[in-house]
Amino acid sequence: MADEKLTPRNEDFSEWYNQIVQRAELADYAPVRGCMVVRPYGWALWENIQQALDRRFKETGHVNAAFPLFIPMSFLEKEKEHVEGFSPELAVVTIGGGEKLEEPLVVRPTSETIIGYMYSKWIQSYRDLPVLINQWGNVVRWELRTRLFLRTLEFYWQEGHTAHSTEKEAREETLRMLDVYADFAINEGAVPVIKGVKSQTEKFAGANMSTTIEAMMGDTRALQSGTSHFLGQNFAKAFNIQFLDENNTLQNAWTTSWGLSTRFIGAIIMTHGDDQGLVFPPRLAPIQAVIVPILKGEAENAAVMETVHRVFAELKAAGIRVKLDDRTEVTPGFKFNDWEMRGVPLRIEIGPKDVEKGTVALARRDTVRAANTGGTPVRDGKPGREGKSFVPQVGLAAAVAETLTDIQKSLLEKATAFRDSHIFDPKDYAELTEVVQNGWAYSWWCESAECEAKVKEDTKATTRCIPLDQPEGHGKCIVCGKDAKHKVYFAKAY
Ligand SMILES: [Zn+2]
Repeated sequence: MADEKLTPRNEDFSEWYNQIVQRAELADYAPVRGCMVVRPYGWALWENIQQALDRRFKETGHVNAAFPLFIPMSFLEKEKEHVEGFSPELAVVTIGGGEKLEEPLVVRPTSETIIGYMYSKWIQSYRDLPVLINQWGNVVRWELRTRLFLRTLEFYWQEGHTAHSTEKEAREETLRMLDVYADFAINEGAVPVIKGVKSQTEKFAGANMSTTIEAMMGDTRALQSGTSHFLGQNFAKAFNIQFLDENNTLQNAWTTSWGLSTRFIGAIIMTHGDDQGLVFPPRLAPIQAVIVPILKGEAENAAVMETVHRVFAELKAAGIRVKLDDRTEVTPGFKFNDWEMRGVPLRIEIGPKDVEKGTVALARRDTVRAANTGGTPVRDGKPGREGKSFVPQVGLAAAVAETLTDIQKSLLEKATAFRDSHIFDPKDYAELTEVVQNGWAYSWWCESAECEAKVKEDTKATTRCIPLDQPEGHGKCIVCGKDAKHKVYFAKAY
């Protein structure tokens, strides 16, 4: 499997993506069209994503709970925009236990409604607020065009739902969680993201304001990687989430919701992957380092394996996610290709010479064969010299940890440099239509839906976000020339 060449990224990015997801055994197609099976290697990545996020949620005062998969149809109908937005994507259960149900049940596409219903029972007084609950689970949206991880009928995610006594507090929460997502994406995923506000057209159905982290993939298309919504009092009014304030006056609560899904796995793949395969950021990689013994002759094998086992135990004890590849039926060269394809950040080779000298060879996934990543992959099983170093066995755990930290840093720098070199500030509309073919346009926009629609019709690019960081002053809308208060990113998106 590892011997087959991947389609190069610059030849067919989409085909490269599909091949890599399956060959690296991250996910597979399910018998139901549009559904995915997340395989153990992909799930291990998701578990690391979950842990990194969950830690941040708890540090910011949130707790986890679990709400039902089924939602009464009438609940969705209570919030007009919400039901309009989600209706085309709903899976509905009409029969249960062989009987036609009195009321159809929706398989949750998101849980604002059922959680809003429960909050109305739990919240009576200002003393009950804020409520800061997150749920890890799965949801179903009946999508027509699907891609593994990026868009599937069922996907895994977390959804946070909070209720507050004031608008100010709810708005702060919305931005706090956007910051949490950005911090996670940048520092764990090494995925540079831009924080911003969605346009009215692109916002979540039922929200007053949607915020997003947007990332640029290796083909320059944008990926919405996490969203945080300020829901105003829309769901509070629909579900009677009311409380008595300090003056004993009945008030509607202010709510937020925020989510990040298995889609982020797609972000990692498409941000860092190269023509050899996956490149995982060390902080999220299921396997951070793989040890490959180099066995040359029977006489030395025992000594090599003894060192290998000792090194393995030391690294494991130091908390490094290390794997020993002691397969004997395949060559070291095959193993090199295999683990490179699977994106393991660091390879540790140990052979007879290393035993003699008290060293090991470290080969970095991010720089090995760096010269080849843009062209034809080398399949000779010999790593390039670049990125390979020999380090003493004594103090190896510290050296490995340091190298992993450096790889993490390099990946973020590389991705940031790539993104920044593909963001353009077109001088006029004609230039905008060109730059969005292979990059993002960062332009003044009057915020009218007409101008947004024209760009989409002419180029397929949509507004990705109005970034929170804005230049001073005003400008002229790149489409219509009218006064514009904000700059926006236009890009083709997944
Ligand atoms: Zn305009």
